[in-house]
Amino acid sequence: MKILKYILAFLFGAFAGLFIYLDLAAILFRDPPVWFVLTSFFGGWGLTTYWVLRGTKTLSEMLARSFLVSAILSFGFAPATLFLATKSVDTGGSDAEVIGSLIGGGLVSGFGITISLLFTFLSLVGYGLVKLFNRENRVPDSNLVACDFCAEPVRKAAKKCRHCGEFLQSVKSETSEALEERGLER
Ligand SMILES: [Zn+2]
Repeated sequence: MKILKYILAFLFGAFAGLFIYLDLAAILFRDPPVWFVLTSFFGGWGLTTYWVLRGTKTLSEMLARSFLVSAILSFGFAPATLFLATKSVDTGGSDAEVIGSLIGGGLVSGFGITISLLFTFLSLVGYGLVKLFNRENRVPDSNLVACDFCAEPVRKAAKKCRHCGEFLQSVKSETSEALEERGLER
């Protein structure tokens, strides 16, 4: 599974690099020069791939981080295209030219916002799915206690252990009664 993690991080990096390039180019340039396209795209690709791999141990951790980055980058594409559209409006020319550039700018921003929201939505869905899928293998946290029968982590509110099928409520209340008798808080 290690290989899969690297391949997916690499592919995701390319996607992120594209959005980094588009976001920056829309804000910084009207006609982005080639050096900028190459630097921002490949730089963004490399940096993102490195960052989503760094500090993430499992494939699902890496995917969750990738989807979050992807949500932020694609969300940023909406204001970036709006900005690009206002920049492309040419107020110096004739009326026809101004109207033309307004329509053009409107189309660019409408298209950009649609793309932006679509990818933001898909990224958040992806993030949610990874988190949901991963809940099964989650490390015990403060909402979990060890089952009295099989020692597997179960929710505090659970009445029945999902690992061994034992009923937990009676044991739990006996335990807390016993603690109360001894004057201890659980
Ligand atoms: Zn159990």
